[in-house]
Amino acid sequence: MLSKILSRDECAKCKLCCTFDSYDLWETPIIPVKLASRIMQDFEPDQKFIRKDDHFLLKMDKEPDADLYYCSLLDQEKGCIMGDDKPFDCRIWPFRIMALNGVRVITLSPVCPVVQTKPLADIQAVAKELAPEIFAYADETPSAVKPYLDGYPIMVVEENKYKSSLV
Ligand code: SF4
Repeated sequence: MLSKILSRDECAKCKLCCTFDSYDLWETPIIPVKLASRIMQDFEPDQKFIRKDDHFLLKMDKEPDADLYYCSLLDQEKGCIMGDDKPFDCRIWPFRIMALNGVRVITLSPVCPVVQTKPLADIQAVAKELAPEIFAYADETPSAVKPYLDGYPIMVVEENKYKSSLV
């Protein structure tokens, strides 16, 4: 989805967005119920999940000697074993959906080292182009909308349609 600003090669070399510490475990992707079944059927039969309201999260094991969790679907050589079928949150990262003062916004994670090197105008243009699809996903998956965090530049503000209970 983000091929205009991130190439497969760049992502394959980095994999930062598939690696978490205890602070950013909230960034692990939302797994809708249907996708959880598909993961077990087509990708990783032994995958374990954590149930959260109307969705799941992937259960990841902490590395023994560090505050570090590799996504259980990450192949260190090849990248995500789900390829183009990866969860929506992963397909749009480093964009995030957040709620600020009751309005949904698309923000840019400050963590992605590759996208930081791209012109801001190009990043904003891609965010704007994807906004209808991203907000439609947020309609179906309200848990994907996180409270706004300082330091996340806002790329798109949703107009009128939606008022979130998150602030
Ligand atoms: S599901 Fe795939 S893309 Fe998403 S965090 Fe895990 S390995 Fe990375």
